[in-house]
Amino acid sequence: MQRRTFIQLCSGLSIAAFSYSPLLAIAGETKTGVLVLGGGMAGLCAAISAKQNGAKEVTLVEKGGFLGGHSILSGSGYWIGGTKIQEKAGIDDSVEINWEDSLERGLKLNRFLKRNPEVARQVYEKGPKDLDWLESLGVKFTDQPAQAIGNRKRVHYFAPGYRVGSPQAIKSLQKKAEELGVNIVVNTKLVSLITDSDKRDAAVVGAILEKRGGEKFALYAKNGVVLATGGFANGPEMVEKYHPYLKGVKSHGSKLNVGEGIKAAVAIGANVIVEHYGFGMNMLFVGTHSNVSIGQPLVEVPLIVVNKEGERFQDETRGYLAVNHKMVEKKFKLAYWILDSKSVDKYKDTSLKIWFEKQKVNKYSTTKELAEAEGISYKNLEKTIRIYNEDVAKGKDSEYGRTKLLQTIDTAPYYAFECEPQIYTSYSGLEINKKAQVLNEAGVPIKGLYAAGDVTGHLAYQSGLGGGGISGLVMATVYGKIAGEEAAKN
Ligand SMILES: Cc1cc2nc3c(=O)[nH]c(=O)nc-3n(C[C@H](O)[C@H](O)[C@H](O)COP(=O)(O)OP(=O)(O)OC[C@H]3O[C@@H](n4cnc5c(N)ncnc54)[C@H](O)[C@@H]3O)c2cc1C
Repeated sequence: MQRRTFIQLCSGLSIAAFSYSPLLAIAGETKTGVLVLGGGMAGLCAAISAKQNGAKEVTLVEKGGFLGGHSILSGSGYWIGGTKIQEKAGIDDSVEINWEDSLERGLKLNRFLKRNPEVARQVYEKGPKDLDWLESLGVKFTDQPAQAIGNRKRVHYFAPGYRVGSPQAIKSLQKKAEELGVNIVVNTKLVSLITDSDKRDAAVVGAILEKRGGEKFALYAKNGVVLATGGFANGPEMVEKYHPYLKGVKSHGSKLNVGEGIKAAVAIGANVIVEHYGFGMNMLFVGTHSNVSIGQPLVEVPLIVVNKEGERFQDETRGYLAVNHKMVEKKFKLAYWILDSKSVDKYKDTSLKIWFEKQKVNKYSTTKELAEAEGISYKNLEKTIRIYNEDVAKGKDSEYGRTKLLQTIDTAPYYAFECEPQIYTSYSGLEINKKAQVLNEAGVPIKGLYAAGDVTGHLAYQSGLGGGGISGLVMATVYGKIAGEEAAKN
């Protein structure tokens, strides 16, 4: 019923219904070859790949006023093992080492993996080669991969580095897409998908789009439609539907990623894999003063994290996700990094640097002053620090079994930074096969419909997306490239 309504709506639309942004180059057309919906990493890779694989016309439609989505806001780390960059830097890694390491640290529990191991495995296999492909398109990487959780240095930052490299990557890809003749339409969003019938095996033949301002129009796609509209981190309705335990947790990242691509695909029968692992959504540890994520120092700098009660609640070195999970589980709204001047002096050139240069880190001459100013129970904080310092002296964290970055907190000045969990990437998403085709509830590919990136959910595990052997940007690249290539074949 819904499908028929869409088709009628489309036939009733006239060409005059189109009106374009300055970037648009398809004036007067109601048809394209490959239609890519969403202009982040996955969408750009799909559009470029479609062109490189012979698609005559490729149109990329983006809801926002510029391209980038979550990709441009990301930490800039392309996490993969077995690259030429690692080899040059003397890091002994491979697809196999990365895969085994990931499985061991929880990947085997992931539902995507259980459902179709080959879809997951392909990301590990193609990720390193696709890094070379990104370089061939003009994307620049730093030459020293960084360590995060995992047994090798696998974080390949877009140049110039952590948090600041993503605009370079997106701009390079956009430039390439424009050079190849991709039509880029901004301020226009996907509303629904158009199918050629309302039968079970209907093919997707286009989409109903809506310009900012509310005007709707149909765009037909001869070769296929690629959904690359990101996840639903900022869609509270969908967060509650798939992950009710996260109701009320704040969202981070692009406000435009509300899950419209998933909804549109589900409306024509697509299957969603709901991943509850690790709360089903990735959460950043965000500084409340700055609204910027500050997770990395947890695994690099000796510090403790306490709640309002002044109590530790987790082995901090397990990373931001483990800390966030515990906070959500225990319903702690806020937590605080606490560190002393020894840590700050010794680790000032690590990931701590940016926070001390650019963010408001509060400095106090005593822990009492710190507790009072931050609204933390001093009685408990004093006890927490005392026990922690005694444990450090004994070389054993008696409370949470922490073994890394153990250093006493005893040298003024003391520093505190208030943080909260904010969800930013959904692990649940559309089921795809190795060709990036979207599957229906019976596991059959929906003709003409492909998907890549966050819209397909994630290979999350242990420490979440990015905490292991691969990351969201790699998934977006690998399946974006495949989706474009496959659609171009039609
Ligand atoms: C703060 C932050 C830090 C991160 N750090 C890292 C990291 O270091 N490494 C890593 O690998 N991953 C990281 N991630 C995750 C990573 O950014 C994502 O996995 C990746 O960017 C997904 O790419 P995408 O193209 O699928 O989605 P996006 O980049 O979000 O692109 C989706 C696009 O679709 C558009 N859109 C949405 N709805 C519609 C619609 N209805 N019609 C048309 N367009 C629509 C959006 O505006 C957006 O431009 C981070 C994410 C965030 C938020």
